[in-house]
Amino acid sequence: SDLKALIEKRVRDVADFPEPGVVFKDITPLLGDVDAFRAVVDALGDGYGPIDAVAGLEARGFVFAAPVALALGAAFVPIRKVGKLPARTLRRTYDLEYGSATVEVHADAFTPGARVLIVDDVLATGGTARAAADLVREAGGTVVGFSVVMELAFLNGRDRLTDVPLRALTTV
Ligand code: 5GP
Repeated sequence: SDLKALIEKRVRDVADFPEPGVVFKDITPLLGDVDAFRAVVDALGDGYGPIDAVAGLEARGFVFAAPVALALGAAFVPIRKVGKLPARTLRRTYDLEYGSATVEVHADAFTPGARVLIVDDVLATGGTARAAADLVREAGGTVVGFSVVMELAFLNGRDRLTDVPLRALTTV
């Protein structure tokens, strides 16, 4: 589609970042193209029905989730790396290739049963997405969907999210 072609044109491969052997998908050219950014924001939030809150994953997920929230007339909720949120939090720790990562959400971020859309830039192994979906549910939200700009299919992240409707605007 046009949108896929636009995203593929505006997401740049950067070799050996953040470490040797990794090809990083750099979304900053997309953010620099007003028409592409707007089309992506529309497509991330479109068609889910009523949404009460859009949860974004630190840090690049924030950049997409906040305008999606405004477009849908929904609240924005940050899911952050551990130690950044000031009030009482819920947290999830998940495994990385080397070591682990912990993400948090404010315990009072959602009204009970709130319909929540989670947004991030890239789905890789799915560890971050899995933790985010579990956190939203623990905080009382209902996960209506998970939208990402790009899915890296060779890492099979989708297999860890079988209980959540997953929308990837592009799959590579
Ligand atoms: P996962 O937990 O699925 O392995 O990794 C996904 C998280 O890492 C997302 O929050 C995403 O921002 C980040 N990430 C992993 N690989 C890439 C990449 O190639 N490009 C970008 N922009 N983010 C990535």
